[in-house]
Amino acid sequence: MNNISVIGAGTMGNGIANVFALYGFNVNLIDVSESALERGLATIEKNLDRMLAKGTIDEAKKSNALANIHSYTKLEDGVKNADLVVEAATENIDLKLRIFKEMDNYAPAHCILATNTSSISITKIAAATSRPEKVIGMHFMNPVPIMKLVEIINGYATSKEVTERIVELSKKLDKVPVPCNDYPGFVANRILMPMINEAILSLHEGVAGVEEIDTIMKLGMAHPMGPLQLADFIGLDVCLSILKVLHEGFGNPKYAPSVLLVNMVTAGKLGAKSGEGFYDYSAGPKSAVVSSMFE
Ligand code: NAD
Repeated sequence: MNNISVIGAGTMGNGIANVFALYGFNVNLIDVSESALERGLATIEKNLDRMLAKGTIDEAKKSNALANIHSYTKLEDGVKNADLVVEAATENIDLKLRIFKEMDNYAPAHCILATNTSSISITKIAAATSRPEKVIGMHFMNPVPIMKLVEIINGYATSKEVTERIVELSKKLDKVPVPCNDYPGFVANRILMPMINEAILSLHEGVAGVEEIDTIMKLGMAHPMGPLQLADFIGLDVCLSILKVLHEGFGNPKYAPSVLLVNMVTAGKLGAKSGEGFYDYSAGPKSAVVSSMFE
């Protein structure tokens, strides 16, 4: 497996492309937006420069990684030689179904189609293709170059061989792949999102303030950041959409998103990316949160 296509050059897509390119794979990075591609490539270069400054890589590794990445705006051109596609486009079910249908037409028959979705059913995405046994979830964590975990999600029809190949491939990227099955929220978000929701409910009910809740969870549970800061970092709109998937998927009221979360998203307060969430980021953009994780 040598040719990897990554669909979407946003937060996750550029991180995924970065890691594959650094480990010597040939990467086609595809985005419908030319400016997203430019921003994605600039982020990759910045991340490689950071690694260079820390001495983790040398100049040759950096230039090889950059030379391994080719960018495309047309899906058809970017996937035609792919052995694996990792889809990391916007979290929207209709969009993903359309992309998978198209990929299925243009990618070679042997190509594995993976998705980095946080919450959409792998089985549903696979059903949009003629090769459901070759469709799998490859859920990288943010920031991809730093975080070790890849949650590997088996759809109903994913073959054992495909899972094994993706597990082996993830190890080649120096990641820790952990397989699980296709249930709403998989494992990571099924457990994380109710915790974030509970933190927001506690805030709304006046149990404690933002800093207090985060400090209690950080110091008390040895979490690297509190749940409210983490929610800002993930994006409050993303948290809300995952909670809706859990709520609908299990039909259990315990997953109902808190009213405060719904109101904040409606008001456009989406966390670090919009400049405000539970914390104020007007003085420091999202990168302030990310770079604190690189230290
Ligand atoms: P993002 O908004 O930063 O990037 C999405 C990119 O997809 C944009 O650049 C957009 O132009 C592009 N895009 C939209 N339609 C496209 C199409 N038809 N073809 C090609 N590109 C297209 O989003 P993100 O945060 O990188 O999330 C991407 C995926 O990763 C989502 O499924 C999300 O649930 C998942 N995810 C996100 C995080 C996170 O913390 N942000 C973590 C794990 C998984």
